[in-house]
Amino acid sequence: MTRIIIAIDGYSSTGKGTFAVEIARRLGILYLDSGALYRTVTLYALRHGQIEWNGEILYRQLQEDILLGKIDIAVQPKEDGSMRVFLDGEDVSGKIRELEVARNVSAIATLPFVRNFVDEQLHRLGAGGCVMDGRDIGTAVFPNADLKIFMTADAEIRAQRRVKQMEEAGQHPNFEEILKNVQERDYIDSHRAMNPLRQAEDALVLDNSHMTVEDQMVWLDGILRERFNIKLL
Ligand code: C5P
Repeated sequence: MTRIIIAIDGYSSTGKGTFAVEIARRLGILYLDSGALYRTVTLYALRHGQIEWNGEILYRQLQEDILLGKIDIAVQPKEDGSMRVFLDGEDVSGKIRELEVARNVSAIATLPFVRNFVDEQLHRLGAGGCVMDGRDIGTAVFPNADLKIFMTADAEIRAQRRVKQMEEAGQHPNFEEILKNVQERDYIDSHRAMNPLRQAEDALVLDNSHMTVEDQMVWLDGILRERFNIKLL
């Protein structure tokens, strides 16, 4: 197994997950989805009544549970390179994608004690080598990662991709609304007080506006061969 740590950051809907999973599968390394851990903490808070009906977070209870080690998170790699996540022994990989979690996760992810907790989990799980995606991996979580990639793409193209995904899932999204949501998330992620999204100085920028996943693999293969003598393709 290759002991390399690859940190992938970038704006929402730039295809970070797809890119990272494909790398994990081809290199046979662990994929860690940091967003999934924020979502799992959010699910825990929802299940334990730590988020009130009006969206207010009961900080003290959540903080106490985290400090007391009450939140048990585990991950398991899947054959296709993606990751399964468990909360207190239960596979919650599907549940963390539900709307209720999506609505609350960004607020939960602004809490410093939650960010510290997720960072500890990522270190514990990924220290032996992994490809990890998120918004602060190369800048805050693994500043010494072997390779840092910052992904970006035109907002309109990202919105088109999301519209297509939603249509494929049987939904009827409005392009203008999706574009607005993409731009709002860019703003929130880049202006958060703790560890906002920004490009690490030593990150390589990958603008995939006009690239397929295979084009991105060819790009990365060149870098891995040159820098680490590792073949991806
Ligand atoms: O990537 P995903 O959409 O699953 O992430 C869910 C949320 O978790 C993001 O919208 C963001 O608010 C937060 N997040 C974060 N830092 C990360 C990964 C995700 O704040 N490294």
